[in-house]
Amino acid sequence: MVVELISVGTELLLGNIVNTNAQFLAEKCALLGLSMYNQVVVGDNQERLTDTIKTALKRSDIVILTGGLGPTEDDLTKEVCAQAMGFALVEDKHTRERMEEYFKNGIYKKIPENNWKQAIVPDGAIVLDNDNGTAPGLILEKFGKSAILLPGPPNELYPLFMNKVYPYLQKLQPEVILSKMVKICGIGESQVETMVLDLIDKQTNPTIATYAKTGEVHVRITAKASDEEEAKKLIKPVLKEVKNRFGDHIYSTKEEESLEEAVVNLLKKYELTVCTAESCTGGMLAGRLVNVPGVSDVFREGFITYSNKSKRKLLDVSKSTLKKYGAVSQQTAKEMAMGGVLATDSDVCVAITGLAGPDGGTDEKPVGLVYIACYMKDKVWVEHYQFKGNRGKIREQSVVRALDLLRRSILDNYCS
Ligand code: ATP
Repeated sequence: MVVELISVGTELLLGNIVNTNAQFLAEKCALLGLSMYNQVVVGDNQERLTDTIKTALKRSDIVILTGGLGPTEDDLTKEVCAQAMGFALVEDKHTRERMEEYFKNGIYKKIPENNWKQAIVPDGAIVLDNDNGTAPGLILEKFGKSAILLPGPPNELYPLFMNKVYPYLQKLQPEVILSKMVKICGIGESQVETMVLDLIDKQTNPTIATYAKTGEVHVRITAKASDEEEAKKLIKPVLKEVKNRFGDHIYSTKEEESLEEAVVNLLKKYELTVCTAESCTGGMLAGRLVNVPGVSDVFREGFITYSNKSKRKLLDVSKSTLKKYGAVSQQTAKEMAMGGVLATDSDVCVAITGLAGPDGGTDEKPVGLVYIACYMKDKVWVEHYQFKGNRGKIREQSVVRALDLLRRSILDNYCS
């Protein structure tokens, strides 16, 4: 089945807003196994919108339109789509009642007259109740084609799509699409791709694709089958092979689990408390950990020790180490991590010290040089990296590597 997206809104054409709805919908359609060959952005113009809809309906089975369902004059999507597909417009009693209910406790004493426009729907359309706004979603079916109209605001569109449209599309698409994500850290994208190139080359079903994120690579294995059991069977041997090849570099095989969540889960599993000691990342590592709900069970304290003075004062890094080796050195990183554990009585401390630039680099210590140390149970792990990119990129990569070093140190200590 071929699906096409039409994003309606002059503000999209002018670059006033980013088309995040298209990204969301394209990703979900791919998960459903729908083929997408075209995405179109069109302004709030009757003639051009009519042409766009007619063209899309000729070449695609399903057309998803977003935006332009609001109450104002320039919101044309429903009217134009109904006309292009030959539907009359009628008032939907159910939607009108929902609107009355919606406005009852709102700021308006009287419902603005133009709002009732949203209770007018194409005669025979499937009306999708919108729990986060007044404009309902609509599905128009004709000649074996479907047009799906959704409101523009993402907080309305996302739940409406997931709760009502996703199951509808699943029914239209007879095959089941199942995918498994393998999340890898510590190996670059080209190396990951090289390591699975033979699998990619001979792939038919399941397919394998790699996606690069900052400091991480995700490998998605996707199978198409007549039912879920069959899809799982197809994925299983490929997943096993991928796991064998990447071993401990895999931090998760769960779609929704982030690196920091995987790390926090590991800390919880082994009942470890952690603190952070950061120089060039200025609290970003602590911030990533605190992103995870429930981190208070394991996270004790985060130090931002940017100057030598604060490294000495808060983490007891020795004056002679700083003088002899400098703030960006293996020795300083080690002492920061040890000092963090001593200062907080945590089980583990991860420390980062590096040169994020753009100034301050030398031949011996160029911009991008970062030392990361992890101290746990009288053992210390230290790694150094030479990152490329601007200040932001260097700091982001440092945090990812620090989270990964923490993860691998725990595995090293408890699983080897
Ligand atoms: P409303 O009832 O709020 O008017 P609508 O369905 O008419 O909704 P639009 O008026 O086109 O939608 O857009 C409303 C808002 O939704 C925009 O200002 C923007 O914030 C957001 N929005 C619209 N389209 C997109 C898109 N493609 N991606 C991300 N956000 C969008």
